[in-house]
Amino acid sequence: MVDELLAVRTRSADETRALGAALAGSCVGGDLIVLTGDLGAGKTAFTQGFAAALGVEAAVTSPTFTLAHRYEGSLVVHHLDVYRLEDLSEVIDLGLSELLDDDAVTLIEWGEAIAPALPSSYLQVRLELGDAEDERRVAFEAVGPRWEGRIRGAQDHLVSAGAGRC
Ligand code: ADP
Ligand code: MG
Repeated sequence: MVDELLAVRTRSADETRALGAALAGSCVGGDLIVLTGDLGAGKTAFTQGFAAALGVEAAVTSPTFTLAHRYEGSLVVHHLDVYRLEDLSEVIDLGLSELLDDDAVTLIEWGEAIAPALPSSYLQVRLELGDAEDERRVAFEAVGPRWEGRIRGAQDHLVSAGAGRC
């Protein structure tokens, strides 16, 4: 079951990056974040802010063709994009369970496509286009028990990183 905990509006890619950065402060090793939303919704922008907040200095680019990038920060950041996966069995080749270790956080763009292969608890971040051109609605949805309390605890911080609730 997916439970929407909070939705925040952003008005630019930088605000979406700031929102990603604000979430990073609530993350611990072993966390999994699934990013869902159409092409251009801001999944990569969100990841860029998230990784920068963990001290990643490398430029974070879309792993669409390479499937997975690994960055070193205060935690290791695994950034995956499974848009091009044709078969769920290919997920096994990604070694997802090995990525989800205690020293790393993992973000997966289009991760909902591989939901059957995901663990029982993760945070889903749903990015949708808003009414204005540069506006996005970013919803935080908990799958399993691990996230509700943490998002509630961080909600003021998240709301002020963006442009308010929506
Ligand atoms: P995705 O990974 O979901 O395909 P990207 O993060 O690569 O999306 O691209 C988002 C695009 O939308 C970028 O060109 C960015 O500049 C633009 N953009 C405009 N407004 C926003 C916003 N509020 N949040 C995120 N990206 C935005
Ligand atoms: Mg992307």
